[in-house]
Amino acid sequence: MNSFYIVLMRFVKFLFLVFMDFLSDSSDEEKENLKGILFTPDGNGIFERLKSPYICFRCGRALSDDFGFCTDCLSRPVFFSLIYARHITVYGKKQRQFITQWKFKRNRILAIPAAEKIFRAYKENFSELAVVPVPPRKERIASAGFDCVNDMAFILKWCFRLKVLSPLIRIDSEEQKYKSFAGRTDKNRKRYALKKNSKIKQQAVVLIDDIMTTGGTLEECAALLKSAGAKEVYALTLFYA
Ligand SMILES: [Zn+2]
Repeated sequence: MNSFYIVLMRFVKFLFLVFMDFLSDSSDEEKENLKGILFTPDGNGIFERLKSPYICFRCGRALSDDFGFCTDCLSRPVFFSLIYARHITVYGKKQRQFITQWKFKRNRILAIPAAEKIFRAYKENFSELAVVPVPPRKERIASAGFDCVNDMAFILKWCFRLKVLSPLIRIDSEEQKYKSFAGRTDKNRKRYALKKNSKIKQQAVVLIDDIMTTGGTLEECAALLKSAGAKEVYALTLFYA
């Protein structure tokens, strides 16, 4: 990590503290907690790694022993196009509070510690590969004014100098509420698409997102990236549920 960027980001975090009262919708107690998230190495425990050294090779969830794969990935696999997913830690109470502070209480500054942790995990697992952020819903940007994953990608690009590609768009959004109930619950409904004339020249790319729940989003995006020319697609998220 370039020392210039470390200094720059310390400065940005410091500025946030100074103007926190104007920038944040958090309560005083939450603001106190924000300082810890910004200035302690594991972000007040939010990014603490799990103790178990074993993870499922495919989905990246923790395992109690050296089984190789979790029972989900063996009995009802989700990933076909995606080779494997990795995560910083599991989505628990602390992590949920962190996401709330970040997404809904206007603490956009939290993209910095998130991007730092993603960058470290990226270096451990995927050094040199281009990254592709999972695109947000349009209404999420409209309501919050920003998108968390996009902010992380911005920092990865301009501060950590990663190659960031954005070939994907989200296609369901406003029109969704006009569809029939049957349409909304259709699991095969497409939620993402490639932008026009998207071609991926890179051999391998890494999708990044905030939380993996079923893995369906990552798999859908991975299939699109492969159809655009990527040979290998991996994923890295902050948390998994
Ligand atoms: Zn698994």
